[in-house]
Amino acid sequence: MTDRERTAFVTGAASGIGRAICVSLHARGCRLVLADRQQAPLAALAAGLGDRAFPLPLDITDGPAVASCLDRLPPEFRAIDILVNNAGHDIGGRVRFDAGSADDWAAIVETNLTGLMRVTRAILPGMLERGRGDVVNMSSISAIRMVPDQAPYSASKAGVHMLSDIIRGELAETPIRVTEIMPGLTRTDIVKSRHRGDEDAARKYFERFGMALDPEDVARCVMFALDQPPHMQIAQMFVLPANRW
Ligand code: NDP
Repeated sequence: MTDRERTAFVTGAASGIGRAICVSLHARGCRLVLADRQQAPLAALAAGLGDRAFPLPLDITDGPAVASCLDRLPPEFRAIDILVNNAGHDIGGRVRFDAGSADDWAAIVETNLTGLMRVTRAILPGMLERGRGDVVNMSSISAIRMVPDQAPYSASKAGVHMLSDIIRGELAETPIRVTEIMPGLTRTDIVKSRHRGDEDAARKYFERFGMALDPEDVARCVMFALDQPPHMQIAQMFVLPANRW
């Protein structure tokens, strides 16, 4: 199957890593469903990509909206070959567990883990019916590295890590491939949104580490995984800025 014949569904498409993945997939000729809860940047991205990209306003924590999301797509966008589960956030994160808000913690897990499960549940059956598909889960180095003061985010990503392993195991006798990408610090708006729009806090955070990946670096990793022959799956990819270990 050529890239032009494939359709990708990318969550968190409107910003950062998701946006870079969409641009790369579009450059290869894929048809794209761009899903995000941020409607204005989503519409702007779709307008730039043309009629092979369909913007789908979607909050992945909204169970009924996710369950019916394929019904809201034009017919030519419904057969998803590549699912990139990328939407995620850390809003209210980076505080000691006893000092944070339980509502913030719940919202992080509801997007990063439960929302990812909902989207996968909605799209995977079609892949199995058609006998082809790639599921790419954006986890994080935080899935497997202990960092104090980010318990909910890390717990959500550790959940994505285990979920990816288990789904890969369940699908082992099928043509569906499951890839987990674990990036280190990447220069996106996630830090600004963690601090509820505080640009200064975000700037200082990136300065502290000196080096960060660009969203395009992570997009390249996803493209590498997708480029492998059908008998080979990149199970996990752990990617760091060169000044980290
Ligand atoms: P960005 O904030 O730049 O982009 C994430 C996009 O996802 C935003 O548009 C965001 O909207 C959207 N989103 C968040 N929650 C939902 C939801 N419930 N439903 C639909 N869309 C949603 O962040 P990144 O590009 O950095 O993050 C992409 C993924 O990469 C995340 O899963 C993140 O955890 C992961 N990651 C990021 C790293 C980094 O250092 N940047 C490192 C490792 C992993 P909104 O602005 O409203 O939240």
